[in-house]
Amino acid sequence: MAEIDRAAALAAAPAELFIGGRWRPARGRAAFEVVDPADESVLRRVADAGPSDASDALDHAVDAAADWAGTVPQRRADILRAAHDGLLRRREEIATLITLEMGKPLAEARGEVDYGAGFFRWFSESASRLHLDGDYGVEPGGQYRIITTKRPVGPTLLITPWNFPLAMGTRKIGAALAAGCPVVIKPAEQTPLTMLLLAEVLREAGLPDGVLGVLTTTDAAGLVQPMIADPRLRKISFTGSTRVGKLLLGQAAEGVLRSSMELGGNAPLLVFDDADIDAAVDGATVAKLRNGGESCVAANRIYVQSGVLEEFTGKLTERLAAVRTGSGLDPDTGLGPMIDARQRDKVAELVDDAVERGAELLLGGKVPGGPGYFYPPTVLRAIPADAELRTEEIFGPVAAIYPFDTEEQAIGAANDTRFGLASYVFTKDLSRAMRVAEALDSGMTGVNRGVVSNPAAAFGGIKESGLGREGSSEGIEEYLETKYIGLQL
Ligand code: ADP
Repeated sequence: MAEIDRAAALAAAPAELFIGGRWRPARGRAAFEVVDPADESVLRRVADAGPSDASDALDHAVDAAADWAGTVPQRRADILRAAHDGLLRRREEIATLITLEMGKPLAEARGEVDYGAGFFRWFSESASRLHLDGDYGVEPGGQYRIITTKRPVGPTLLITPWNFPLAMGTRKIGAALAAGCPVVIKPAEQTPLTMLLLAEVLREAGLPDGVLGVLTTTDAAGLVQPMIADPRLRKISFTGSTRVGKLLLGQAAEGVLRSSMELGGNAPLLVFDDADIDAAVDGATVAKLRNGGESCVAANRIYVQSGVLEEFTGKLTERLAAVRTGSGLDPDTGLGPMIDARQRDKVAELVDDAVERGAELLLGGKVPGGPGYFYPPTVLRAIPADAELRTEEIFGPVAAIYPFDTEEQAIGAANDTRFGLASYVFTKDLSRAMRVAEALDSGMTGVNRGVVSNPAAAFGGIKESGLGREGSSEGIEEYLETKYIGLQL
């Protein structure tokens, strides 16, 4: 059964570049291999774009910009809604493709299709209301009228990571298209197939030629830099590492590009003595294991108050010990492979470093033999202050548990980081929940829940975790400029 699904899903994904509304190979016909992280086999070869392909895609986006901006919002909304329906119609195919190239269990991949499609529905609704946004008033001296409207930023470059191959795309594409911006998107080289299939879904939904370009490449830097330097590009939206985000912000400064950055996290998860411990274990399990821990909102540091430390640690360890590691296509799998050998080795190095410095290993911690980039669910406690995983984003299934005594201590430790994306609090005391949530320096806080992502909620970080918000009513604003007209009557 899985074999049939696998073949069908792979056959459904285009393997060429999507430029100007049609599929074509890369100039020079270069291609690269997409690998299944569960068994290291080659899934497909896809076109490897270079700078001249990027320049073509940008030409088409620039040519399409005026017409797309002038397309009535209701029409843009209809296309997004049709693409939403298209994604759900092809749910199994897309979910299978996500599992094949990224590794996450199929049940989670299905969840990503629903979540990812949700952005198209959400932003189709935003598009419908777009032209109603604005202001009309009299300037305070009474001399003339002030009219404020919105207009699209213009041609936009989107760069996405491999951890949510579909949803990180729809979250940006949905907002940009709703706002009236043409886009060129560069997915991560590990997971290009999902984005290529998404382009096909948008084409079938009636998206005009040129409004979307998809460039798959092994040379992200070489492809992206000339595009950012091109004055016709007006915006960049990036999701990925803080290191690359800073690099891109530097490049974007030259042309003063509007920039949205969704970067790394180092999320703290706080469990207080008065928490419902079973609920906290549930929340920590999902905040840790969802997506194999390969998520910027994954709980990186789990702080547990001393009164419940033993109970919580014991229950979480038991829970994680029961998780089966294996191919995401196997219905019994709770944890798939890491995305690639580099990521698997990075997780292993962080755990080894902590253990060498004196941390206590309660579960896992050993790279299994055999093909596939697997790393087991792992629990660490008594972690010394100088362990690298205190400050580094682990991006793997490693629960790092730290004790605390007072609320003040917990907040201080939680905020002691350059990042500020997500945080989590578990307590039954409503006053404490709100007090702590307000004190945590992060863009998002989950209270008594381990998942915060929702198309209707503002996703984004503070400090070095990023600039701007995705989803919610704010998401579309990232792709709009305010235009003021002074009217003399
Ligand atoms: P990770 O380390 O998790 O793969 P990255 O930040 O390297 O995160 O990757 C996120 C996205 O950024 C991917 O699409 C990747 O190809 C792209 N990317 C990586 N380096 C650069 C670069 N120098 N310029 C532009 N894009 C880049």
